[in-house]
Amino acid sequence: MNDMEIKDEFDMNIEARRLETFTDWPFNEDCQCTPAKLAEAGFYHCPSDQEPDLVRCYVCHKELDGWAPEDEPWSEHVSHSKACPFVLLKKNENRMTMEEFLKLETERQCWKLNKEVKSRIEEYKMQAKDVREEMEKLVNV
Ligand SMILES: [Zn+2]
Repeated sequence: MNDMEIKDEFDMNIEARRLETFTDWPFNEDCQCTPAKLAEAGFYHCPSDQEPDLVRCYVCHKELDGWAPEDEPWSEHVSHSKACPFVLLKKNENRMTMEEFLKLETERQCWKLNKEVKSRIEEYKMQAKDVREEMEKLVNV
């Protein structure tokens, strides 16, 4: 999530930009999860060595991998992230009004911030647990 520049993240608002991220996608023919359908469903490709077919929604940042040829991107998005503002709007940027576009961009940033805050809280909890264990060791000496 931190591997993208702010401008690149903003560019993911554009379906054609999302499509360009699928340079090395394993499914292209005779399947539901083509790059075109994934980009249309709000996803861009963000592969790693462990997860070569990892995609992420540009609004809710839901990450999905382990795709099978019969998986339909829009249905997968709806079933894994029902509250995603992009899912609820059901339009790509060509059919949005400027107001809808700006509202979605605001929500995109809120979801991103929310995810970052949650991950920082988890990090803090892990650190607190380690410190507590160290302190308990000192008490029990
Ligand atoms: Zn989403």
